[in-house]
Amino acid sequence: MLDTNRPALPPEIGRRRTFAIISHPDAGKTTLTEKFLLYGGAIQMAGQVRAKGEARRTRSDFMKLEQDRGISVSASAMSFDYHSGQRDFRFNLVDTPGHSDFSEDTYRTLTAVDAAIMVIDGAKGVESQTRKLFEVCRLRDLPILTFCNKMDRESRDTFEIIDEIQENLAIDVSPASWPIGVGREFLGCYDMLRNRLELMDRADRNKVAESIKIEGLDDPKLADHVPADLLARLREEVEMARELLPAFNAQSFLEGHLTPIWFGSAINSFGVKELMDGLANYGPPPQIQKTDSRQIAPEEDKVTGFVFKVQANMDPKHRDRVAFVRLASGHFQRGMKLLHVRSKKPMAVSNPVLFLAADRELAEEAWAGDIIGIPNHGQLRIGDALTEGEALRFTGIPSFAPELLQGIRATDPMKAKHLEKALMQFAEEGAAKVFKPMIGSGFIVGVVGALQFDVLASRIEQEYSLPVRFEASQFTSARWVTGPKAELEKFINVNKGHLATDHDGDSVYLTRLQWDIDRIERDYPDLKLSATKEMM
Ligand code: GDP
Repeated sequence: MLDTNRPALPPEIGRRRTFAIISHPDAGKTTLTEKFLLYGGAIQMAGQVRAKGEARRTRSDFMKLEQDRGISVSASAMSFDYHSGQRDFRFNLVDTPGHSDFSEDTYRTLTAVDAAIMVIDGAKGVESQTRKLFEVCRLRDLPILTFCNKMDRESRDTFEIIDEIQENLAIDVSPASWPIGVGREFLGCYDMLRNRLELMDRADRNKVAESIKIEGLDDPKLADHVPADLLARLREEVEMARELLPAFNAQSFLEGHLTPIWFGSAINSFGVKELMDGLANYGPPPQIQKTDSRQIAPEEDKVTGFVFKVQANMDPKHRDRVAFVRLASGHFQRGMKLLHVRSKKPMAVSNPVLFLAADRELAEEAWAGDIIGIPNHGQLRIGDALTEGEALRFTGIPSFAPELLQGIRATDPMKAKHLEKALMQFAEEGAAKVFKPMIGSGFIVGVVGALQFDVLASRIEQEYSLPVRFEASQFTSARWVTGPKAELEKFINVNKGHLATDHDGDSVYLTRLQWDIDRIERDYPDLKLSATKEMM
C-alpha cells in the first residue's frame, strides 16, 4: 500500500524507475523497447533487421532484440538515463520472457519492478497473455501505464478499446492522449495531460514527433494542422471522453486502480516519448519491500537486496552464472562485503555488473531500485537475500508446484552425465524442477506449463549440444517430504520406488494417486508433504 506521508527519497533513489513491459506476443514490445533505448541515448539508431520464425520466442526478448537487431543486450535488465522536464531519470527496464506460455520466470521478474507498461495492439485489444500478466501485476498492486500500439494501422474505435480494457481487466482507464484519425488517416494525438498537439512524421520513423503547444481545443492553431472533419471529430470525442472517462489521478494510478493510456505507433516512434515522460513524472520511485521480520524502506542506509533471477550460460565460453539482484535499500559500492543470509556466509561482491543497453560494465556503485548482476558459481539462488548483516528473508517471491511431469533422456545414452549437469543448471535457474529417482536411470522434469518442456529441450540442445527427448512419466504429482530424520528414513526405505531427490538433494515423493498422499499423511503424521518448495 502506498504511503503518501513518507519522507522524500534521497535524489539518487527518487530518480529511479524500475519497470517491466508486459504484452501479448507481437503487440510491439520489442519495437517499443528499442525506441526506449533510442531515446535513452543507449543506442544510436534503431535497426530494421528481423529474424523469421518462432524459435526466437524461446529466449528472452532482450536476446531476441540482440539476434534480430544486432544490439548486444543479452541480459535480463537494462539501465539507461532519460531526461524529462528538467530532471534526469535512471530507467531500469527488466525483461520478461518472450514465450507465450505461463512462465514462472515472468512472475518472479515482476517481483523486482515497481511498475509495468502494458502494450496492446490497437486492432486486437486485450489478448490472453496480456490478461494473465496483468493479473500478476494486480496481485502486487503494481501501477500500470498502458500503450495502445499500431495506431498507424486500422484499429478499433478509441472508446471501444478503452471500454474493453475497463471491462476485461476491471481497472479504470484514463486517456493521457487522444488519437486523431485512424489507420492511414492517423495524424497523431492530442496530449490530454499537457494540451499539446503531437504530429506523427511518416517520412522518418526514428524522428521524434513534432509537438505544437496549443491553448485547449478551441485554439485556432489546430485548424492549421488538422483537417476540418478530423478536428470536429476530435473535439467531439475529447469532450465525450472528459465527461465519461475518469480524469487522471496520480494516487489512484500508484495504487493500481487506474491506468493512463497513450496511443501511438512504436515503429514510427510516435507516442513513445510521451509514455516515457509519463513513467518519469508519474511513475513510482523504488518502493518499500516486505520481509519476514519488517519492511525495508529504500532510503535506509544499509544495503539489502534479493535475487529474483539466475541466468546460466550468458557467456557460452564460461559456465558462469549471473544472479540478478534487485537492491531494496541503500547505496551499494563495489567491493562491499555482504551477508549471504541463507548460507550465513559473507560474500565480497567484487565484480558486480550493471547492464547498460549497449554493453555491460562493472558497477562501481548502485542504489536502491537498481538491478545488479553478480557472477557466481552457483551459491546464489532465487530468493536469496543479501544484507549488511541482518538475517532477514524477503517474502513474496512465488514458488510454483510442478503440475506436469515427464521423463527426460539424452538421445545419445553415453551423454547421461552431461544431461545431469545441464538439468541441474536449469533447476538452479528455476527454469524447471528436476527429480532424480532413487531407482532406475534418467530424470523426471516438472514444469507448470507445457511449453516449458520445449523451451528446455531447445536450450539443452543449443547450450550443451545435447539432443534430448521427453517421455511419459508414470507419475503425475510431486511432494517435497520433510520431517524428523528417523521418521523420514523409515519412510524412504519402504517407498524407494516413489522417491527421488531434487537438485538440492532434498527428498521428493512422486505418485499418480492423491490417495497415496492422503495415506502417507495418515500413516506418518510427523512428516510434512508440500507441493511447493520454499524459495527463500
Ligand atoms: P513483440 O512480439 O511484442 O516483441 O512485437 P514486435 O516488436 O516484434 O512487433 C511485432 C510486429 O509488429 C513486427 O512486425 C513489428 O514491425 C510490428 N510493429 C511494431 N510496432 C508497430 C507499429 O506501431 N505499427 C505497425 N504497423 N507495426 C508495428
